Amino acid sequence: MSSTKYIFVTGGVTSSLGKGIISASLAKLLQSRGFKVTIQKLDPYINVDPGTLNPYEHGECFVTDDGAETDLDLGHYERFLNIPTSQANNVTTGKIYQTVIDKERRGDYLGKTVQVIPHITDEIKRRIKILGQNHQFDFVITEIGGTVGDIESTPYIEAVRQLKWELGNNCLVIHLTLLPYLSSTGELKTKPTQHSVKMLLEHGVQPDIIVCRTEHKINDDIRKKIALFCNVSKESVIEAIDAKSIYEVPLLMEKEKLDEVVLKKLNVHTNSKPELSNWKAFLNILYSTKNQVDIALVGKYVELKDSYKSIAEAFIHAGVKNNHKVNIHWIHSEMITKDNVQKLLGNIKGILVAPGFGNRGIEGKIIAIEYARKNKVPFLGICLGMQCAVIEFARNVLNYEDANSREMNPATTHPVIDLLESQKSINYLGGTMRLGAYPCEIKENTLAYKIYNQKLIYERHRHRYEFNNEYRDVFEKNGVVFSGINPEKDLVEIMEIKYHPFFIGVQFHPEYKSTVENPHPLFIHFVKAAIDNNG
Ligand code: GLN
Repeated sequence: MSSTKYIFVTGGVTSSLGKGIISASLAKLLQSRGFKVTIQKLDPYINVDPGTLNPYEHGECFVTDDGAETDLDLGHYERFLNIPTSQANNVTTGKIYQTVIDKERRGDYLGKTVQVIPHITDEIKRRIKILGQNHQFDFVITEIGGTVGDIESTPYIEAVRQLKWELGNNCLVIHLTLLPYLSSTGELKTKPTQHSVKMLLEHGVQPDIIVCRTEHKINDDIRKKIALFCNVSKESVIEAIDAKSIYEVPLLMEKEKLDEVVLKKLNVHTNSKPELSNWKAFLNILYSTKNQVDIALVGKYVELKDSYKSIAEAFIHAGVKNNHKVNIHWIHSEMITKDNVQKLLGNIKGILVAPGFGNRGIEGKIIAIEYARKNKVPFLGICLGMQCAVIEFARNVLNYEDANSREMNPATTHPVIDLLESQKSINYLGGTMRLGAYPCEIKENTLAYKIYNQKLIYERHRHRYEFNNEYRDVFEKNGVVFSGINPEKDLVEIMEIKYHPFFIGVQFHPEYKSTVENPHPLFIHFVKAAIDNNG
């Protein structure tokens, strides 16, 4: 293709319509035709990144290989496209302003008044075009967070208007809206869509394609009506009906010819067709398997399932690989006590203890881990989950009564999880954790080696605290195996317990790397161990 094409995805009517999934589905269709595609998310909030946000605000914070703390939509992009994203794929208003203000302080604007237009919009456009540099990608799909009409997203819509003008035929805008269904009259209503397109037009942007989220099929009359009122052709009105799984959406979009319309509008001539046989095979098992396995996810944010998005998706991928559906039992760690643990976990075949920060819910996690260890229930601890497994072992096997992480109890006499010297002087919380991909060497003849079947792996991190190496010997003498070590700093990355069918804790986050085409081996083996657990 001669030049990179830019596709913008905006949202109207309400938030949470699934712009991320529509963007990822279109990207999948284009990728499966042989094009190189990337997706970017622009978030209109003022936080520099979501790293300092509580998961109750926006759900999980996703982490890239290069250590960016990002919006959870980047997880969808990776799970669909099976290629890693990077710092450049998530931009927030905070980042934009930080860059512009830094430049102003350096004197780069040579005395000019610094304004939203052109300085902020120029910085937005620069961040969009970075991904198109050197023609690394045929298509850059940019999802604009929020809803058209929000004060916060106005500079982004203005940047789109300018880019449409600059890029002409190499640029296209898709607007995602909702068609509400009125059950009293049995009708789908198009008025909110008309209004939101009008709002876009007020900002000088004419959408090229309108994707309509709907609970019911849309007929020809509705397509014609939307086309007429919104200045698009009828073929550019695309139905996005609710799907049982997000992984079906690329196929629904293929049926609606979203990719064909996009290619036609961008003047891209190709004989290729989407090649989705692996994807269809995956979906086929997902929808048809009758086998089920019950796994507990123990965490403190379980009221908002988006807080553990990548873990839940990794279970879907690993479940399909094992020809099973994983029934996740969301268990609030604050609810677990010594008295009810048997009742809560008695019928569960595998226990995952989730990542997290702070003291809340810690004791419940430790009780769940003690239960898993003693009853030989397959266990996977992720990040804080691994740290809790270390604390549990220290308290209940080594009899260090007040063993803890210094994060939870700075005065503990047994800080089995502690800060590294290099972290002690850090006062700023934003972007200062151990972030992104680091190498980990795996010892042979361990569970980890059986799982990975490799000596050197790279996994993504997001934590401040580490296993305290002063305790390594005593743990090893009592049955713990440190099967994964960071070779540069000699840090414990993986711990497991001998004489247990499957007990493994990892300091990193395997869930970030699981995709439809590459389910994560830790999840595959954990789900398998749960299936094989007849206890
Ligand atoms: N709070 C722990 C730390 O900072 C674990 C973090 C996590 O689970 N992601 O080390």
